[in-house]
Amino acid sequence: THFGFETVPEEEKAKKVYQVFENVAQKYDVMNDTMSLGIHRLWKDFLLHVMHPQPGARLLDVAGGTGDIAFRFLEYIKSQEERLRRREARAMQTPSWQDISTNYSNEQGAEPLESKAVVCDINKEMLTVGKQKADSMGMTSGLSWVAGDAEELPFDDDQFDIYTIAFGIRNVTRIEQALQEALRVLKPGGRFMCLEFSKVSNPILSRLYDTYSFQVIPVLGEVIAGDWKSYQYLVESIRKFPDQEEFKAMIEDAGFYCVRYYNVTGGIVALHSGFKL
Ligand code: SAM
Repeated sequence: THFGFETVPEEEKAKKVYQVFENVAQKYDVMNDTMSLGIHRLWKDFLLHVMHPQPGARLLDVAGGTGDIAFRFLEYIKSQEERLRRREARAMQTPSWQDISTNYSNEQGAEPLESKAVVCDINKEMLTVGKQKADSMGMTSGLSWVAGDAEELPFDDDQFDIYTIAFGIRNVTRIEQALQEALRVLKPGGRFMCLEFSKVSNPILSRLYDTYSFQVIPVLGEVIAGDWKSYQYLVESIRKFPDQEEFKAMIEDAGFYCVRYYNVTGGIVALHSGFKL
């Protein structure tokens, strides 16, 4: 292909991927909004909706880039805590059978459970942009940033309740190796969740999507970021990634249980989920 990804050996793919994200880091968020027409926000919100994390949960967001998933995770938990507090306040005013469940889930006077999100990305530029964003949002507690490779995570075994990877796994050279690492760092009972571009089955949507991807996206990349090739790579990497069923089988082969997927926006994106038992 134009960018030469079909022919580069494995170790060179990693180098090229690094360059691509180093080039786009500063413009990454703007480009994401522009190219997806803002829809990537809905895909990420959907991930959180399905995850439904509770106070005290520990998240590892791999290929976390500029932190979108981790921010949403912490915000979601904050809103859950607010809900619990309101429920408790209501129960205090009108004692009822609900007291039992309220007190059970959040003991009076108990310390709030500490939730944690770790953003791990191989690219330091992306992490730097993410950290700046977190600072400007005043979001620092419960959040950490770690440079690391999805294929060789710098974490001990059985550490996290949830492992996410959003629009990251197709960039990884050895996907099976990344899945093994996900399984290793999750606690037993922990959940693997992956958002990734997938296969569109509707022929009309598929045609529109192809036209948009191959004709519009690289142009936007050139106009906004001055970088046609990086965005052409992004489109090509999407086309090469396994479809919903193939990827589900890979997750099962890695040793996850109850593996399933949800198609979002007609399969443009799929959310795969599986558990470590
Ligand atoms: N998750 C973020 C989001 O949804 O906005 C960022 C996604 S971005 C398309 C892909 C990210 O994967 C980049 O930040 C890139 O540096 C990272 N990445 C690529 N290969 C990686 C690897 N082997 N290990 C960890 N991160 C990797």
